[in-house]
Amino acid sequence: MKVVCPTCRRRGAWFEDRFGPFCSERCKLVDLGKWFNAEHVISEPLSADHFEDSELLDSIPEVDGESGEFGRPSS
Ligand SMILES: [Zn+2]
Repeated sequence: MKVVCPTCRRRGAWFEDRFGPFCSERCKLVDLGKWFNAEHVISEPLSADHFEDSELLDSIPEVDGESGEFGRPSS
């Protein structure tokens, strides 16, 4: 029975292999890595709540160029 490797799309009798539907251990690890990355993406928006009530938002307008200390030659 031939199947398609989910990672590299190669066709072969991978299913009976010990790496499952993947053609090799490498492809299996790559697929696991995708899942780990997806978990990171999901957990990241949680930190957005932190910004809402922190002082970081108040400090942002200071960088708006009023002081002009950064890289602007005053002549
Ligand atoms: Zn593969």
